Amino acid sequence: MSSIVKPLKVVLEHFPKRTFTVFHPYEALKLPERSRGGIQLDMEKCTGCGVCAYICPNVAIELVTRGEKRYPKLDYGRCCFCALCVDYCPRKALKTTPVHELAEFSRAELEYPPERLAQPPQITKPKPAPRRKIVSIKKIDQRGVSHH
Ligand code: SF4
Ligand code: SF4
Repeated sequence: MSSIVKPLKVVLEHFPKRTFTVFHPYEALKLPERSRGGIQLDMEKCTGCGVCAYICPNVAIELVTRGEKRYPKLDYGRCCFCALCVDYCPRKALKTTPVHELAEFSRAELEYPPERLAQPPQITKPKPAPRRKIVSIKKIDQRGVSHH
């Protein structure tokens, strides 16, 4: 009996509360200030010491040469957003941003050379939601879709 009553009690407790989900990508979730999203590089501060590449547990960072200096190149295909690179950078040249919409259509596009990593990640504005037409099961049946 308690296996029925307990879940029912939880449902009834939460039923009048506000919803916690959003209709993404048409609605944006306001993330906490310290949430860890995309990483931004300050090329002026970076000395090319390589600590970020050394500390990264996923081998997501490699150093690439630009002129006489070296800078980190980051592969988001490997990154788990642990922010160890940010914490260990002796020059505070890396910082996390709240931008989490980093999806791309290919693995190659997930690789951020230093110049791209230095750009502030863009927050895309939510698009207006499409009108969703709710089709009743009865209408679907009329179109010939069978239910087994
Ligand atoms: S980002 Fe920081 S840890 Fe990485 S190479 Fe530059 S200075 Fe060193
Ligand atoms: S956030 Fe973590 S996994 Fe991603 S590049 Fe930095 S150290 Fe590597």
